[in-house]
Amino acid sequence: MVDAHCHLQDLETFDISELKYVICAGASVDSSKKAIEIASSHQNVFATVGIHPESNDDFNKLRNLVKFPKVVAIGECGLDSDNPRECELLQKHLDLAKEFDLPIVIHNRNQDKNILKILGNYPKVMLHCFTSNEEFMKECVNRGWYISFGGILTFKKSHALREVAKQIPDNLLLIETDSPYLSPEPFRGKINQPKNVKIVAQMLANIRNTSIDQIEETTDKNCKRLFNI
Ligand SMILES: [Zn+2]
Repeated sequence: MVDAHCHLQDLETFDISELKYVICAGASVDSSKKAIEIASSHQNVFATVGIHPESNDDFNKLRNLVKFPKVVAIGECGLDSDNPRECELLQKHLDLAKEFDLPIVIHNRNQDKNILKILGNYPKVMLHCFTSNEEFMKECVNRGWYISFGGILTFKKSHALREVAKQIPDNLLLIETDSPYLSPEPFRGKINQPKNVKIVAQMLANIRNTSIDQIEETTDKNCKRLFNI
């Protein structure tokens, strides 16, 4: 099984021995460096380098990190608002992804339209911790973008999201924990761990009327393909 998005650098301890691939996401210059370090000492860990919209870090410092071994994507990056500063920062990440022909990992808080406007038709995109509606999902799927679900999918109130998750084509489906954040039920409010990705996989299996083994096989393949590992 894979965890397509988490922050191992924010966990005091972690056990990822059962996971095939773990994508450790940077959210600042410092945490991107730590992601690279963890990837260099764990065979199943790969790193992404990016700056979260809330960070004020110097984007130019990211450029030096892209060429490190096991850096497989740009991000996480994205939008918490339509603030021009955030839009400009996302555009810079996209330019870097294009330059190095890497996927981009997107954080999106209610900014569907602006995400589409800025990313255009860039083909290598992962929408991390997807929480948007069916209309936006279809726009993403039409562009061949990968849709990743985390613990929010298991929350009692996430009926609409589960309806959306039913409809993602197999070849664009991903699973993640975003640990240490966003623990799934029944661990809400506790520190999340990559191994909890199994809970998300089981929920997807239930929703999509298939087995957890099938979800595992599908998401393993998709993770490998998107991040070219
Ligand atoms: Zn994250």
